[in-house]
Amino acid sequence: MKLNNRDTFIKNLPADPILENSRRQVLQSCFSFVTPKRTKKPELLHVSPEMLENIGISKEEATEKSFLDIFTGNDILPNTKPYAMCYGGHQFGNWAGQLGDGRAINLTEIAHKNNHWALQLKGAGETPYSRSADGLAVLRSSIREYLCSEAMHHLGVPTTRALSLALSGDQVLRDVMYDGNSSYEKGAIVCRVAPSFLRFGNYEIFTARQDYDTLKTLVDYTIKHFFIHLGEPSKETYLAFFGEVVQRTLDMIIHWQRVGFVHGVMNTDNMSILGLTIDYGPYGWLEGFDFGWTPNTTDSQHKRYRYGNQPNIGLWNLYQLANALYPLIEEVEPLESILDQYRTDFESKSLQMMRSKLGLTTVEESDKSLIEELTDILELTETDMTIFFRLLSNFNATNPTEGIEIVQEAFYDLTEISDGFSQKWKDWFYRYANRLEQEGLPAMERKEKMNAINPKYVLRNYMAQLAIDDANKGNYALIDELFQLLKKPYDEQPENEKWFAKRPDWARNKIGCSMLSCSS
Ligand code: AMP
Ligand code: MG
Repeated sequence: MKLNNRDTFIKNLPADPILENSRRQVLQSCFSFVTPKRTKKPELLHVSPEMLENIGISKEEATEKSFLDIFTGNDILPNTKPYAMCYGGHQFGNWAGQLGDGRAINLTEIAHKNNHWALQLKGAGETPYSRSADGLAVLRSSIREYLCSEAMHHLGVPTTRALSLALSGDQVLRDVMYDGNSSYEKGAIVCRVAPSFLRFGNYEIFTARQDYDTLKTLVDYTIKHFFIHLGEPSKETYLAFFGEVVQRTLDMIIHWQRVGFVHGVMNTDNMSILGLTIDYGPYGWLEGFDFGWTPNTTDSQHKRYRYGNQPNIGLWNLYQLANALYPLIEEVEPLESILDQYRTDFESKSLQMMRSKLGLTTVEESDKSLIEELTDILELTETDMTIFFRLLSNFNATNPTEGIEIVQEAFYDLTEISDGFSQKWKDWFYRYANRLEQEGLPAMERKEKMNAINPKYVLRNYMAQLAIDDANKGNYALIDELFQLLKKPYDEQPENEKWFAKRPDWARNKIGCSMLSCSS
């Protein structure tokens, strides 16, 4: 198997001079060279054909032993030097110091058809950043990362991608709910792919250490390779760079809000400098529309990373990045005005996104209150977000009394509607009908537009869990079924109608479905 290496990519960055693994502070270095751990009995479970094509590997090559060896850490590509990156981060609002790639190893960086890709193994063993952990990953979290990153891509959400999912053949000890009940689980390795895995925390660590030389080296490198259109590094370029990261981060979060994705751990070490969704841990998909929901049990008390707070946290994290870049800019005002722009842009972009979910193509002052009224009623009773917006495209503006009937599949308990909230819904549907009449878009055209924005299929929390339960028993068919389904999330797929359904009752309080921890 041949890959077009691009090892010059990392040539100008300071590397950790000490090659062996040790749990310690890695100073003045952006990364450390490491060797992936050999695995006992590796077995490929799935490979993404789109990603193979993107990086220039044929389907035949992917069946060769060399592919299996490389993407499970048993061999390395010729002339490459795998490495783990050094970063810090703010976790749950507090500075946590050095974190780094504790179980992620970049194999190499390649160029194919004008795109640059970094290939990274997750779960391939210890690195100098592993602290007291093992550097490994379990099958359940690897399936979740593999399926969700590809699903997000097909939903049109900026994200890191996934190339392969493999069993390592090794057993990994985990305490899933952090309650003292550890057990062995199947170890797994995902190869994930992105132009770069740099995070806000990669910059924060050097500012925290007052190592501004390395900070500048890393920022200049980032601009040179990923923001080349901004020009030669200078104070102005650094500001333009920050401005673009702010915009990309906002756009990514607006997409999350559109599809009902809750990241779960928006620490600054999980924020990509390219505005990609990164580090799929205890994430979840909204079932009932609820601004207060988070799937992460570690965050159940304060719910810092709840659905409705993601845009605020995005801004909070960008403040940390602004602090990290400040030593190169040394002016507060322009940084603050870029951050203020986030607030203004959030208001307008969020409103525009919600308009598009309702099939509105024109702008009216009153849209804001129409939308707020809707989200208020959606929160009154448990209403499935995905089903609601998808069915709403069938609404007939000339017959608003039918509204409830059209979306009724979205309600988890229909009696709650008839017992108390039907008048509120009727009022809203009348208001919506009036607004649509004013808009005057033919019904079919509106439906088409809405269905291109409101997905029919998302990776519901229980769906991933079903694939995990099967896989733990040695049956991997559902992984492929969901992978195929989620390639076309906006299409009607009559043969897959069973996945367009509310969460079944058994999954309401099941671990892995509605409750997830960071254990992975
Ligand atoms: P996460 O919460 O998964 O984003 O991880 C936070 C930090 O812990 C990162 O530095 C990870 O690389 C590290 N980490 C998480 N799990 C492991 C593990 N099993 N072994 C080593 N490091 C880990
Ligand atoms: Mg992380």
